[in-house]
Amino acid sequence: MRTQSEEIIIQGTPGSPGISFGPVHVMARGFSAPDVYKIQEDQIKREQARFEAALEKTKQQLDQLRNHIENLSGEEEGQIFDAHLMVLEDQTLLTRVSKAIRERRQNAEYAFYAVIQKFLEAMRRINDSYLRERATDIDDVCQRVLRNFSQDTDSQATDRPDHQHILIAYDLSPSDTASIDRNHVLGFATEQGSVNSHTAILARSLGIPSIVGLKEAVIDIKTLSEAILDGYSGALILNPSEETTQKYRALAKKKTLALRELDTLREKDTSTSDGHRITLSANIEFTNELPQVTQSGAEGVGLFRTEFLLLGAGEIPDESQQEKVYTKVIESVSPHLSIIRTLDAGGDKLPAEPLSQPEPNPFLGWRGIRVSLTRNALFKEQLRAILRASAKGKIGVMFPMISGISEVLAAKQLLKESMDELDKAGVSFDPNIEVGVMIEIPSAAVMADAIAKEVDFFSIGTNDLIQYTVAVDRVNPHVAHLYKPTHPSVIRLMEMTVSAAKDNGIWTGVCGEMAGQLAITPLLVGLGIDELSVSPHILPSIKKAVCSLSQSECAEMVQQALKCKTSPEIAALSTNMAERCYPELID
Ligand code: PEP
Ligand code: MG
Repeated sequence: MRTQSEEIIIQGTPGSPGISFGPVHVMARGFSAPDVYKIQEDQIKREQARFEAALEKTKQQLDQLRNHIENLSGEEEGQIFDAHLMVLEDQTLLTRVSKAIRERRQNAEYAFYAVIQKFLEAMRRINDSYLRERATDIDDVCQRVLRNFSQDTDSQATDRPDHQHILIAYDLSPSDTASIDRNHVLGFATEQGSVNSHTAILARSLGIPSIVGLKEAVIDIKTLSEAILDGYSGALILNPSEETTQKYRALAKKKTLALRELDTLREKDTSTSDGHRITLSANIEFTNELPQVTQSGAEGVGLFRTEFLLLGAGEIPDESQQEKVYTKVIESVSPHLSIIRTLDAGGDKLPAEPLSQPEPNPFLGWRGIRVSLTRNALFKEQLRAILRASAKGKIGVMFPMISGISEVLAAKQLLKESMDELDKAGVSFDPNIEVGVMIEIPSAAVMADAIAKEVDFFSIGTNDLIQYTVAVDRVNPHVAHLYKPTHPSVIRLMEMTVSAAKDNGIWTGVCGEMAGQLAITPLLVGLGIDELSVSPHILPSIKKAVCSLSQSECAEMVQQALKCKTSPEIAALSTNMAERCYPELID
């Protein structure tokens, strides 16, 4: 049994960085069903009109929210609300509600609520993460419409305190997150949600510290308890002791100072102490991250995950819309290279198109280049958009989920056909555009010597390389303890990849999360990696780490690591060197 003032640490997943201090406000979960009552025949018209008015009001609010988010974060984030608006225009839904009012004589709010619940129930039963995410959107819209039936449209607002607080909720919908008042909400933590949810994506772009997937029921948290939210580690500390508060105040200060100090490195070259040059570039999902990329001092974009373009209206933008997006990337990082990865839909991410049956093993299924090579028209549309953009600056194209050379040759053939089509149409492009592949499936790492002869660069996708090498689902918490970046087999596959690249005169980058792990930087430098592509917020720290290392010492350490039999031994070798060379960056 907990006492009221006992310090409690609830662990979750970091959603967006930052530390906040303040009293918590716990938001009630969900919403209750509206009252149901029978209407008279002469009231049917009035109920239909009430329904239409509630819909209209909701549309206007969503339009406003969309504009608000577009102004803050860019067009793609704003498009998240397109899905909401589509719900309100869904003919099947509208017809069913009208029918329930007319034939069942239900009051409008209940008719609407009941129809939506039926939809939601069906969607939640389908084992598909994309549809589950859509169910949250529908739930969100439903709550808004119901609030708009009552004249009291500010009921949500009155539910929020007017003092500064840390918001705790079972879940926050994208529109809840977008409506957060930055003057009052210092940070938020939710029981539900994952780092890839719309909510976490918006929190990052709005710069609100957050935690998702809290491992305890938020219902047990008392409103007004003092708390510390650590968006770096994902810890929510309730009733912090004086000692803990001091520790976190010091940490927050250290982070602010470190960020300021790292800022001074922006113009500095990234070279090890013995003069070995490494390119540091950034991973992005949305173009609104581009200002952070420039600010971080990145020398280009090493990975643009274009599948997130799907997030908007749920369909892939056409050739000219894509060209505009890629051009925006090029223009903001020019004269550096921008690497556009072709669609890697599937797996845990949004599917390129709904499959008729859920896949039993989505990570081993229809994903990445496998989708592109069976949907040639869609793939060539993206390739032509990349090529059109290549006329405006330095751009590279990269294929994901390559398992062997045949896929590389097939993709290159389609690239060539796309070039011929543009040539015929008199459209200019760069015929020498850099072509690369992700090395993220063990079979590709083993065949790297053959693949290297066909491409200009490799980028090692360690997130998937680890999951496929040690057979650990990267999103399954039950096997997370087996997901080991320093597993000897992973390091050996990386070494094979780098040496195959060197033998064939091409460069190798790393764009998986491993590239941003400070304790692992000595291993990557020692392996002879030429480029590290990381999230912009960690880039300055990685720069400092690389500059503090000696490449020859790291290479010697890697020789030892390659003889190790276990993951902890390799991790220790790298961490020891990191602690010796840049202790201030290692927590
Ligand atoms: C990877 O697998 O390491 C990678 C960078 O790609 P994604 O995380 O998008 O699968
Ligand atoms: Mg991958």
